[in-house]
Amino acid sequence: MAIPEVEVITRFAPSPTGLLHLGHLYSAHLAHQLALSTQGQFLVRFEDIDETRTRDTFYQAIEEDLEWAGLHAPKPFLRQRDRLAAYDLALDKLKELGVIYPCFCTRREIQNELTQLAHAPHGSDGPHYPQICHGMSDSQINQKLAEGRTPSWRLDARKAGAIVGALSFHDHYHGKITVQPELLGDLILARKDIGTSYHIAVVVDDAYQGISDVVRGRDLLDSTHIHRLLQVLLELPEPRYHHHPLVTDDTGVRLAKRHAARSLQSLRSKQGLTPQQALELALRQQEYS
Ligand code: GLU
Repeated sequence: MAIPEVEVITRFAPSPTGLLHLGHLYSAHLAHQLALSTQGQFLVRFEDIDETRTRDTFYQAIEEDLEWAGLHAPKPFLRQRDRLAAYDLALDKLKELGVIYPCFCTRREIQNELTQLAHAPHGSDGPHYPQICHGMSDSQINQKLAEGRTPSWRLDARKAGAIVGALSFHDHYHGKITVQPELLGDLILARKDIGTSYHIAVVVDDAYQGISDVVRGRDLLDSTHIHRLLQVLLELPEPRYHHHPLVTDDTGVRLAKRHAARSLQSLRSKQGLTPQQALELALRQQEYS
């Protein structure tokens, strides 16, 4: 492998909303290996912007699991909850660029609109937002604000794409990928309740932490189209991407937090597995190789 010019800095970015499972172990292991094999750094970051879903016990459990697995990273781990001001700045910049717009829709309004549409475009996350609030006039917006309604902020995917122009990224597993700005539609970049989103937080923090290589599951590949767009708009550096295969359960369904029996905690305390055995199990249960 060619020696990279910049120091390799990788990260594992779990959300403390549940226990780590074999899929997390595999992902963290790959990120750790890549850093170690190049004398780089491996970092851990808690993606905890959604306070309603995080639990204190999961921060602790994740730290313990990583210790057990020998995946050491400098402490304290960055917590996205401490970074909200940086995400606000990024959002302000997107507002200035005119590539996001306020949306006052409730879920029900969106659902009603979608049922009326014969052919709503779909992305991997379901039907695209039917652009109800797209193109609202300033006076319409001001009226809603005067009524005390808080908007979420949505990406104007088409406009953002036009500003950015042709864009692609290289993925270690998937090769060259052409960015499709409208792949996920006008998705939410700032949630009404928390004022930000995974997409903003992840690009801002990958830049802040100097991440050279983003290693994560291929379920996030579609999100990377949006991340590349945001990186260009926010003038952030482009990391290299490694969207690895996912780990599945015995029936081939990809692991999720509900698979309690595949949690690292259960594998080590109930089934007595060593980290190496757990990793071998993860390797055997990949969706494809
Ligand atoms: N927090 C995400 C997860 O737990 C990972 C996001 C990322 O690596 O960009 O799946």
